[in-house]
Amino acid sequence: MKINLKSLTEKEISAFIKDIGQPVYRARQIIKWLYERYAISFEEMTDLPKHLRELLDKNAYISSLKLMKREISMDGTQKFLFGLEDGEAVESVLIPDDDRLTLCISSQAGCAMRCRFCVTGSLGLKRDLMAYEIADQIITAGRLMAKKTIAEPPLALSEGSGDIKITNIVLMGMGEPLHNFAQVLEALSRMINLLGFSKRRITLSTAGIAPKIIELAKQAPRINLAVSLNATTDEIRNRLMPVNKKYPLKDLISVCRKFPLERARRITFEYILLGGVNDSKDDAQRLVHLLRGIRAKVNLIPFNKVTAGEKMEFRQSSENDIAVFQGILRNAGIPAFIRKSKGSDISAACGQLKAIYS
Ligand code: SF4
Repeated sequence: MKINLKSLTEKEISAFIKDIGQPVYRARQIIKWLYERYAISFEEMTDLPKHLRELLDKNAYISSLKLMKREISMDGTQKFLFGLEDGEAVESVLIPDDDRLTLCISSQAGCAMRCRFCVTGSLGLKRDLMAYEIADQIITAGRLMAKKTIAEPPLALSEGSGDIKITNIVLMGMGEPLHNFAQVLEALSRMINLLGFSKRRITLSTAGIAPKIIELAKQAPRINLAVSLNATTDEIRNRLMPVNKKYPLKDLISVCRKFPLERARRITFEYILLGGVNDSKDDAQRLVHLLRGIRAKVNLIPFNKVTAGEKMEFRQSSENDIAVFQGILRNAGIPAFIRKSKGSDISAACGQLKAIYS
């Protein structure tokens, strides 16, 4: 049976190359093709001798994600639905922002966390992604963005300026990354060692699996941490995010306090503002209190019924409530930013494209 080269670690690729009677330096060449030049066939590996390409083709293959759907927003945000080998599908979203091009990737097909404001949560968990399927979202999006393979030029991204490179990665798409810990760790290692991303440009977002946050700091030091918080009392958070029943605010905030941060780095707390649920002055004051002593920044994300789906039970906060909420945080010295939904003219909320196409 042919082996999927992307399912192998660097060491395993070297062992495989030795097994088929080739010098180990060939492994380095192949790894470069896979992760730096995004090759999806041995034929593309033009600096390998023809007999080696044939030998590889006989014994191995290179998995790749199938582009099932691509939506491009007027603001330049692009959403991809990628098909996996077994027929499951995951979403990735490419978000241009000033000089950054951030790719938001999935770590699971579906999600078991069932956050009430999330479309993916309502789909349930299908399965964990393998490390190579997580990294492949970067490779496939990178390939799509490379000038030579652009089928439809992206709007709002400079045309004719050569290849367009992804600069930042956030694990904030479908799934809870800390629920698929081992594969996510291997994927992080590939992002850093093979795809060339600096740790400072990678952010992992969690719904709050408290014990694994400490484990993450040990196993993948200096990766940025984002916590999807969304409430300031256990009562409301239990309602919005069932994970809170297992890891209540006290435990979550306590591990955040212990999370080691490099100089000038902060933990990002994501806070979806839901009208009449978690957007009062009291909530803002409680949030200030909760985050006291943590080097934190807060992203306030006004709930958007259009991107989240009409079926959602929540409503948008008023402009005034959002401004007051932000003001309370800022007055307390907490950097707080209002993040308007990107790609509001496409199915840009997590899980939406999958929900439409499943
Ligand atoms: S918000 Fe994240 S953790 Fe919660 S259900 Fe959606 S994908 Fe899962």
